[in-house]
Amino acid sequence: MSLRSVVIVGASLAGLAAAHRLRDLAFDGTITIVGEEESPPYQRPPLSKQFLTGDWERPRLDLRIQRQDFDWRLGARATGLNVAERRVTLASGEHVPFDGLVIATGARARAPAGFAGRNGAYTLRTVEDASAIRDRIARGARKAVVVGAGFIGCEVASSLRKLGCDVTVVEMDRLPLLRVLGERLGEVCRTLHEAHGVKLELGIGVDGFAGSDAIEGVRLSDGRVIEAEIVIAGIGVTPNVGWLEDSGLDLQNGVLCDATGMAAENIVAAGDVARWDHPRYGPVRIEHWDSAIGQGEAAAATLISGRERAAAFDMTSFFWSDQYENKMQLVGMPQSPDELRVVEGALDERRFVAVFLRGGRVTGAFLYNSMHRVIAYKAMVDSNAHLEAKTA
Ligand SMILES: Cc1cc2nc3c(=O)[nH]c(=O)nc-3n(C[C@H](O)[C@H](O)[C@H](O)COP(=O)(O)OP(=O)(O)OC[C@H]3O[C@@H](n4cnc5c(N)ncnc54)[C@H](O)[C@@H]3O)c2cc1C
Repeated sequence: MSLRSVVIVGASLAGLAAAHRLRDLAFDGTITIVGEEESPPYQRPPLSKQFLTGDWERPRLDLRIQRQDFDWRLGARATGLNVAERRVTLASGEHVPFDGLVIATGARARAPAGFAGRNGAYTLRTVEDASAIRDRIARGARKAVVVGAGFIGCEVASSLRKLGCDVTVVEMDRLPLLRVLGERLGEVCRTLHEAHGVKLELGIGVDGFAGSDAIEGVRLSDGRVIEAEIVIAGIGVTPNVGWLEDSGLDLQNGVLCDATGMAAENIVAAGDVARWDHPRYGPVRIEHWDSAIGQGEAAAATLISGRERAAAFDMTSFFWSDQYENKMQLVGMPQSPDELRVVEGALDERRFVAVFLRGGRVTGAFLYNSMHRVIAYKAMVDSNAHLEAKTA
């Protein structure tokens, strides 16, 4: 079927990348971009970094829109998809027909039980969330608890220290970022945060929250209560697939796609919402910036070329994180038995590179203040090189 109209649901990074790529591929039909948020697409990574600290203001977050010929439907939530009749239903009741559909509805932050709706309790996914946290601190909140020591939790802790807050981080695992980075790099993160005056409560869960309307503290599973004026939960995300429940698409931890991003005939998914059958990693949902762009572009190409001629999306996972003055980058998706070897610098220095190895081959690389080396290590991870083959 030739495509005359493409609807993109999700007006953010992956959706915009798909829209741009459709035009680059000479698609001249209508492109309708439906987005629940009122604002045009913006960058989320600075929300826990430069925007939270006040170093950046709102206009700097805007994503660049390179074309005038998109039909924007902002402030419009999709509530249903009818695959057979090729239409998306909006909360207003309107039906939007399509020949091709890009699902790019991303993910939302999870909140602990008994958390949402309390004064002083925040998650961080949107610019409104980040503005509300900033506002609260500007109004004098100083005692902060961050629940979860993943990348978002660690970045928030770092930004709140910069704003002069007393920060405690509560984490179920024994170390920050343990599941992503493993024991030795988790230890590096622990040392980093402690050196910046963050109190870490590790290996302990959250049992509930003190206070009624306004949050007054975080109750730990050992019964202690950490006093807090502001609590930010960074405990992961849930893919936004609620609107697809009756669509018949396979929705297990995201929209299941083949290796080309296709979920059904002329229906593709991209970004944080997509569980893509990655040629090297298997079915995986990657929640990173580069991947959202790459998938958005690949999904557009799949729509244009059709399933038979579409190429598998085989991008190496990449993520960066800024904490205090430090730049961290993780290339690849190392698994827990992989061996960690420091190949440049040392773990207790301000600059190092460590690689993850499986059978002597490089499965991942963690770069700490070593951004200039990322291309070289990315090439090694891409080709699953033997460490001995490392070039200078
Ligand atoms: C605080 C923060 C910091 C981050 N830092 C980094 C970082 O340092 N490095 C990195 O690599 N990545 C980082 N990320 C991750 C990166 O921002 C995401 O991977 C990226 O935003 C995913 O893009 P997306 O378009 O798939 O989804 P999203 O950006 O989540 O966009 C999805 C859009 O769809 C809309 N939507 C949802 N449901 C509907 C519906 N039913 N109808 C219409 N619209 C809908 C949403 O409102 C949203 O606008 C960070 C994310 C956050 C939140």
